[in-house]
Amino acid sequence: MGIIKSGGIVIDAKESGETSKLAEIFTEQFGLMKVLAKGARRPESRFGAATEPLTLIQGVYYVKEDNGIANLSAADIVSPFQHTHDDINKYSYGSAWAEILVSNLPYSEPQKRLYSVFHQALKDLEDIPDEQVEKFFWAYALKFIALLGYRPEFMICSGCSVGKSDDWMFSVENGRLYCKQCSQSLRDSLFMRLDSGETRILSVFSTADRTVLERITIDEKQMKTVRDVIEGFRRYHIQPEGELKSLQFREKINKKND
Ligand SMILES: [Zn+2]
Repeated sequence: MGIIKSGGIVIDAKESGETSKLAEIFTEQFGLMKVLAKGARRPESRFGAATEPLTLIQGVYYVKEDNGIANLSAADIVSPFQHTHDDINKYSYGSAWAEILVSNLPYSEPQKRLYSVFHQALKDLEDIPDEQVEKFFWAYALKFIALLGYRPEFMICSGCSVGKSDDWMFSVENGRLYCKQCSQSLRDSLFMRLDSGETRILSVFSTADRTVLERITIDEKQMKTVRDVIEGFRRYHIQPEGELKSLQFREKINKKND
């Protein structure tokens, strides 16, 4: 393969050896790559800041045939997403997105649509006001899950195609929506109950861009249901099976500050 170039977003980085870092980089051209940044932990290294998680870089990689690990041979920071790095709440949410992606993306398979949605998510996270962050997090998490191959349906009943109901059941197993009547014939399914407002929010989350997301208002009860549905669906279908570590960390910090 030799030398390749691509824009990419660092989604994870671990210490490696005495002075190096082993990073997971979601590249635009080649999908997820495992990248060794030699000497990145030396204070004078030009790779130090460029291998911080949630940083957009333009990278040059030397790809060897044998072990699937590329060597970083040059890196320019395109965006450090500085506001996100300076804000523990935003950073935790951004890291939770990265956690979802790193656990599910296959190596060396371009995922251009998902890459572009993730890039947009980080750009939005940079400058949305604090009170919008949780809403944006779950909306984009739902988009990522859909682009990873698990697209849930929130528009109509999958049994009888009815589009209006005050009382819906969402099947965590197959990601489909059922009216009350149809859900009774599927007794064994793992269902979550939704009202019409919550269903509408989830359907908007699946498709909406920033302008629409900014305008949609969600009360606390709706936020809780929406969060439970997306997280329940995510945990059932994709990795990691447990809670997202970055969100657990965020909760701990919030408790300390209470
Ligand atoms: Zn029905």
